[in-house]
Amino acid sequence: MNSTELPSFEPVTEADREIIAVQLGRPPRALRAVAARCPGGHPSVVQTSPRLENGTPFPTLYYLTCPRLASLVGRLEASGIMKEMTARLETDEELAAAYLRAHESYLAQRDAIEPLGHQVTAGGMPGRVKCLHVHLAHTLACGPGVNPFGDETLELLRPDWPSGDCAK
Ligand SMILES: [Zn+2]
Repeated sequence: MNSTELPSFEPVTEADREIIAVQLGRPPRALRAVAARCPGGHPSVVQTSPRLENGTPFPTLYYLTCPRLASLVGRLEASGIMKEMTARLETDEELAAAYLRAHESYLAQRDAIEPLGHQVTAGGMPGRVKCLHVHLAHTLACGPGVNPFGDETLELLRPDWPSGDCAK
């Protein structure tokens, strides 16, 4: 798949919408599609429109909804790993180039839905690593080889996910 092309995902069902509302603790906004699921079948990543229904820009195209996965990522973030990841961008040219491509791909996919008129994507791309939830969501939605830090996050979670509740 050309990573700048918008992947086609399955449409959201009413049952998905209800599960996502429980996952988020509020009705989902600007929901476009379920971009990934946990092995148990519940949505783990949703694709969101670049603008909410009231017109407010929402630059995060892929949003992690599974609470279990989100809390595992939160635990990883609390270890301070994002600082180390950001520092590696300074010294590893190949990684920096891959991260820039991730940013460009994210932007191209979002612009294919609706351009927001700016180049800001999410998660700190392309210069910093600020939110691993964003990167993991990107990897789960678009597959390996698109976002290097999403791929790394998935690898780091391997001992805990998919397993347990999310493996049912
Ligand atoms: Zn899950």
